[in-house]
Amino acid sequence: MSEFGKITPGMVKELRKIVGENGVIYEEREALDNYSRDESGGDYYAHMPDVVVKPENAEQISKILKFANQERIPITPRGAGSGLAGAAVPIYGGIVISMEKMNAILEIDKTNLVAVVEPGVVTNDLCRRVAEDGLYYAGYPMSVETSFVGGNVATNAGGSKVIKYGNTAHHVLGIEVVLPNGEIVQFGGKRRKDSSGYDITRLFVGSEGTLGIFTKIFLNLIPLPGKTVDLLVPFKDIYTAISNVGPLITESRMLPSAVEFIDDTSVVLGSKYNNITLPFQEKAGSYLIIQYEGPDKEELESVYAKAGKALIDGGAMDVFIADNRTNSEKIWRMRRNWLEGIKAFEPHTPTGDVVLPTSEIPKIMDYISKISREYKVQIPVAGHAADGNLHPAPMKPKEMELNEWKVLSEEILSKIAMEAAKLGGAVSGEHGIGFLKKDLLKETKTKQYEIMKELKAFFDPNGIMNPGKLF
Ligand SMILES: Cc1cc2nc3c(=O)[nH]c(=O)nc-3n(C[C@H](O)[C@H](O)[C@H](O)COP(=O)(O)OP(=O)(O)OC[C@H]3O[C@@H](n4cnc5c(N)ncnc54)[C@H](O)[C@@H]3O)c2cc1C
Repeated sequence: MSEFGKITPGMVKELRKIVGENGVIYEEREALDNYSRDESGGDYYAHMPDVVVKPENAEQISKILKFANQERIPITPRGAGSGLAGAAVPIYGGIVISMEKMNAILEIDKTNLVAVVEPGVVTNDLCRRVAEDGLYYAGYPMSVETSFVGGNVATNAGGSKVIKYGNTAHHVLGIEVVLPNGEIVQFGGKRRKDSSGYDITRLFVGSEGTLGIFTKIFLNLIPLPGKTVDLLVPFKDIYTAISNVGPLITESRMLPSAVEFIDDTSVVLGSKYNNITLPFQEKAGSYLIIQYEGPDKEELESVYAKAGKALIDGGAMDVFIADNRTNSEKIWRMRRNWLEGIKAFEPHTPTGDVVLPTSEIPKIMDYISKISREYKVQIPVAGHAADGNLHPAPMKPKEMELNEWKVLSEEILSKIAMEAAKLGGAVSGEHGIGFLKKDLLKETKTKQYEIMKELKAFFDPNGIMNPGKLF
């Protein structure tokens, strides 16, 4: 990629003219370092940008891209940097465009049930704001308190509520994008239906900053559920837990908004980190955390009564119901803080993100146990049981050198991802490909990869947009 242009002090002067003195970071090592990494697991994945710019509107981004396209300067768009695949790491240096100043909720349209936001809005800020109007934004990654809506759209983020509400793609009605040549265009908008031609909005969702930069996002809103109830269900092993997912959904006559699972290793680490002891902790091999959202208490009571019966019939050790905030928070803290809990014991813990049919979860869990024994590496696993999305998290053995661990952990996660693909799955369910999984993408999706490359060349012929990601 030596064909890329180099940032010069003269170019930085131009960038300062576009976004102002306070919108540029240059030659400040410590400040630049904050933009050199995401949450993908190791310092060894970091790469310094030459310059960071913080635009405030689409017009400024348009000017930056026109200039970068002309000079062939690599551009890395950046949301909150919470990604787990290295997608926001500027591996070729160049310009990082941070969306942090574009954080306005532009409109809550209560007639059309649409929110129009800038990409730098923290997802939970949007959830809280629309709740004030009795509305609900159902895109809900576990990183909801830190990640940006733009980052969620660019990675097609999932989370715990996909079984009921779908992943981020399901909530995006339209986007305004700045293309690499600086053109500002809008695809979709406030309309709910559109069968006129190819769905270009969807093409941009999950594009990981490789096709253009979102500057405005139109999101679907639904009514805020009146009541939520959570169930914590211990099982003797993962097989029994997973065999319950289908019957639970059928028998309860309502789609749960979440069916999460955590394995025994995760529970041991998580309970220490969160200072919580779960019931049956000594005996349970796996837990399901189930959530129902509905209009009122009465309806939910009848749903969780049916669900509870189905779970006990299916071999659950017990069913614990949390229908108040304090108890729900205890249950969810364990799951939401799962990764932080593990990283508190071993910071060099990368996270896999395989997805496969739910029925195949026991097979991949057996495979993960085999790999764990073979490599003598602890691999706690948590995931979204109802949509078959698992996060194996190999933990660096204490005595191992970082360089050795980088190679070994990549090998472990690749093997697990390839096995998932063999079982009818894919190498990423929600975190995206970034640069860490691009070989796996190429190997598992040959024709799709070819088509994607052609689309990339069409939108970004000079290859300036987030180079080295996906391809
Ligand atoms: C503790 C923890 C829990 C997590 N849980 C989940 C989960 O449940 N589900 C899930 O899906 N993910 C999860 N993640 C991963 C991560 O939070 C998501 O991938 C999130 O969507 C990334 O958003 P971000 O704003 O941090 O984006 P970044 O990491 O900054 O960037 C991600 C990608 O988006 C691109 N991008 C950002 N903004 C724009 C824009 N405006 N235009 C074009 N491209 C852009 C970047 O170039 C990059 O390719 C978790 C991460 C952590 C640390």
